[in-house]
Amino acid sequence: MLGRRRPINRPLGLSTMSRTSAIRKTAAVLAGKATGALSRITRRGGGTTLPGDVARAIDPNILTKLAADLTKGSVVITGTNGKTTTSRLLSYLLEGAGYKIVSNRAGANLIFGATAAALNEAGPSGLLKADWGVFEIDEASLPKAIDEIKPKATLVLNLFRDQLDRYGELESIAKKIEQALSRMPANSTAILNADDPRVAEIGLGLPTKPLWFGLDDTSVAAKELPHAADARTCPKCGASLIFDAVYVGHDGVYRCPNNDFERPRPTITARNIKLDGFDRFSATIDGTHLDIPLGGLYNTYNVLAAFAVAKTLGLDATYVAERLKDFRAAFGRQERMEFRGRHLNLVLSKNPAGFNETLRTAIDLAKGNSFLIALNDRKADGTDVSWIWDVDFEHLKGKATVVVPAGNRAHDLAVRLKYAGVPAAPPETDPGKALDLLVKLTNEGDTAHLLCTYTAMLDLRAELVRRGWAKPYWET
Ligand SMILES: [Zn+2]
Repeated sequence: MLGRRRPINRPLGLSTMSRTSAIRKTAAVLAGKATGALSRITRRGGGTTLPGDVARAIDPNILTKLAADLTKGSVVITGTNGKTTTSRLLSYLLEGAGYKIVSNRAGANLIFGATAAALNEAGPSGLLKADWGVFEIDEASLPKAIDEIKPKATLVLNLFRDQLDRYGELESIAKKIEQALSRMPANSTAILNADDPRVAEIGLGLPTKPLWFGLDDTSVAAKELPHAADARTCPKCGASLIFDAVYVGHDGVYRCPNNDFERPRPTITARNIKLDGFDRFSATIDGTHLDIPLGGLYNTYNVLAAFAVAKTLGLDATYVAERLKDFRAAFGRQERMEFRGRHLNLVLSKNPAGFNETLRTAIDLAKGNSFLIALNDRKADGTDVSWIWDVDFEHLKGKATVVVPAGNRAHDLAVRLKYAGVPAAPPETDPGKALDLLVKLTNEGDTAHLLCTYTAMLDLRAELVRRGWAKPYWET
């Protein structure tokens, strides 16, 4: 890792100073771009963040300078779940409206990834020639991103306890996000999920009223909070929140029994929601009917959020509905493949809230009864896998006919499934052998859901690419 260099500290005339600043910017851009080209040649994962490291070491203000080049401005998107899909939705909408977009790739959602994305589109003079920046940013990096990028709109989708956050760091992150949003000028809009108690807490503390969005259809609500729900208590008095509806994880319609905290009334809502497995859903969003080729209630949130941002940026609702009819999900988020006559459905499920939703969608809506569940414990997955005890695998009981525990922590998963009373195949840590086992246990025409943590998804996908059933991600 390169150290951060201090700016040269000597008295300079104003024009000299701005010239020095411009030279530093150009040098940073060139060095970053050279690094990116080199890492693509050596095929080190598509070269997503290293150029950002290098450029920031040369000019710590490089992202602020590049963001200032954008003709329209930036949008910053965060949330434990859904930020990649939502960023894709928004980029797709803006591109269709004729704008040139800069956006960071999936998995590169730290400040270095955003910097690398901006560098990629910058010319040799150092100028970033684009209209909008759409940056997906990790929750912990959001305060820094807001300060550096100075976005026109900041979207917070949800704040679930992640596998990386077992010890309440999210509370302090929420506070820092609130402070960063409070520093934004009045013409910048915070677009927040009213259904998430943690996000609501952030928004209610802001000096300027945010734009709230939320679901408004109790027909798709669950009856009770899943085990993974982690924001059950009132941030004001600590009492247990009362949920009148539960949508995804701890997102729903809630209030404190002591009347000091309740879900803010959303301005932009999704109603008449009709879910059709992993394939599609339709809903009336802000009065406009949308029919979207994405499945699951979590994707209703993503589309609703993207709609709220698009409206804020001035896009027409009819255009949004028309454009999103043929949207395609990001790689690995939700992908379908054919594999020896089996229909494989690859879904990223990286934490308890995400896992519970994909399980629910697979079982109740997609009629799936074959599963390959892959759990890894590398850095990007979270090295502590005890979060699997917060996933309601009990839902599989009596419904799943085939369950293959996979990933390098397949054995831990097998133990969890045993306690859930779910019969499973022997654990298989090798991705190729796990796929072979799945094929052996299923029949032609069967649908199998592959639910995987982040690096387990990369491993399985690499195996599928090797066998010629999927494309490498930098080519999709
Ligand atoms: Zn309270």
